[in-house]
Amino acid sequence: SDTEYSGADTSAAEPTPDVTDDVALDVRGLTKIYPDGTLAVDDIDFSINDGDFCVLIGPSGCGKSTTLHSLVGKIPVTEGEVRLGGVDITDAPTYERDIGLVFQDFQLFPHLTVGENIEYGLQRLQVDADERAERVTNIVEMMRLESLADRQPEELSAGQKQRVALARSMVLEPKLLLLDEPLGDMDYKLQKHMERELLRLHRELDTTFVYVTHDQTQAMRLADQIVVMNDGKVEQSDSVERVYNEPATAFVSAFVGDSN
Ligand code: ADP
Ligand code: MG
Repeated sequence: SDTEYSGADTSAAEPTPDVTDDVALDVRGLTKIYPDGTLAVDDIDFSINDGDFCVLIGPSGCGKSTTLHSLVGKIPVTEGEVRLGGVDITDAPTYERDIGLVFQDFQLFPHLTVGENIEYGLQRLQVDADERAERVTNIVEMMRLESLADRQPEELSAGQKQRVALARSMVLEPKLLLLDEPLGDMDYKLQKHMERELLRLHRELDTTFVYVTHDQTQAMRLADQIVVMNDGKVEQSDSVERVYNEPATAFVSAFVGDSN
């Protein structure tokens, strides 16, 4: 259930674990207007409990990617507030946020091998060599990338690149991991395998997930919590059961019912 939001608190960023202990992410009044005037995200509120697997769904163009890019600090927000673990991170630089984002278009380093791509962020975080090796080995196994570790990105299929992009973000064990339609280019069998792997990773890592998809059936298989967006607004933010059994709006009812 929702933690009460203290809108009056304008003090500097400070952890407030007593208030927001079980809330990992708290988004209030988030609004994004692009420089060309497009209102992409229109005053949305939602919060996600620590450790939950949250799925953000909605039709193409409704503002899902804009929301993720705002959370991670890839784009500046127009208005609103983002708190992670009680800390106001609205204006924090991306590298200070402890949030991972798996891009739709991979963005692997072309001159590094698969293994080096995965290890790169750990070197930057100054994780020591033994732990680096252990974490890379674990994630490479989980993602079934053993046979590809010495390859260059250009030698990989789209699905393989996506697995590397996932591994590269997850090996950092961020507090919050944002995944923007990460299984989109995979065939059905690999998608099913990756869904199971994601659920397993989510259990094993102490990480809250926000997973974007426009696939309602995938949302149902993965989510603890679902946030339904339409036209820049949040229509409903609730447990899977409530979204399906007690849709808050006609849009939610039609969208989640339209699963095939
Ligand atoms: P989704 O990920 O749900 O498909 P997006 O967040 O990508 O939606 O887009 C939301 C709206 O913002 C759309 O109308 C889209 O055309 C617009 N949009 C996205 N990126 C930009 C941008 N850089 N400049 C202007 N408009 C944008
Ligand atoms: Mg998108």
